[in-house]
Amino acid sequence: MALQAILARVRAAEVSAGRPSGSTKLIAVSKVQPDARVRDVLLAGHRLFGENYVQEAAAKWPGFRAEFDSPLDPVQVHMIGPLQTNKAKQAVALFDAIHTLDRESLAEKLAKLAQARGLCPQLFVQVNTGSEPQKAGVLPEALDAFITNCRAMDLPLNGLMCIPPEAEDSSPHFAALADMAARNGLSGLSMGMSGDFEAAIAAGATHVRVGSAIFGARSYG
Ligand SMILES: *Cc1c(COP(=O)(O)O)cnc(C)c1O
Repeated sequence: MALQAILARVRAAEVSAGRPSGSTKLIAVSKVQPDARVRDVLLAGHRLFGENYVQEAAAKWPGFRAEFDSPLDPVQVHMIGPLQTNKAKQAVALFDAIHTLDRESLAEKLAKLAQARGLCPQLFVQVNTGSEPQKAGVLPEALDAFITNCRAMDLPLNGLMCIPPEAEDSSPHFAALADMAARNGLSGLSMGMSGDFEAAIAAGATHVRVGSAIFGARSYG
C-alpha cells in the first residue's frame, strides 16, 4: 500500500507550486478494490475516499463508516462516477460530495431531494473540457448558463471536475478548468488522477482522485 508515498508526493507538489500544505485533498479512489486493501488505508488513518458505483458504495461504506467514523475524523465518501437520475436519492444519502453533476435533469432531481431532506452533498459540476462526444460533462460553452441555473435552484456548488482526454497532455485541460472556476466564483477543483495528479496540483487542484497508485491495479470481473 503506497498511501504514505502518494501523500508525500502531494505535499511536495504543493510546495513546488507555492501552495499551502494541505490545500489539496487526496481522494483515495477505492472502486473495485478488495475490502482488505480499503481497510488497510483506513487503518493507516486515511478518511477520504472516492467511489464510482452507487451499488458498490452502498454495500461497502455503511460498514466501514460504522467501524472507522469518529466525530473529529469523519469518514468521507465522494461519488466520482456517472450518476443515473434514478439512483440520485440513494446517492444523496450515501455520499458527502458528488463530483459528477453533468446535466439539467440531474440538477433538478438533486434540488428536489435537497429541499425534501434539508441538506445536500457538496457538488462539483463535471466539465467535458475536451468536448469528447462519448464523455459525460457539461460542454465548456454551456457551463456558465448551467451554473447560473444550478444556483437558481439553491444547489450547493463547490467547484468543477474534469477528466481530460486520455491521449492528450492534461495540463492545458487543468488550466482551462481553473479559469472556468475562477470566472464563476467557484473555489473547488477536482482534477488529477494517478498519472497526472502533480500537474493538477500545479494548476490549482483542491481535490485529486488517485486510485491505482495507492491501492494497486484494479482487477475487474
Ligand atoms: C477510477 C477513477 C479515478 C482513479 O483513477 P486512477 O488512474 O486509478 O488513479 C479518478 N477519477 C475518476 C473519475 C475515476 O473514475
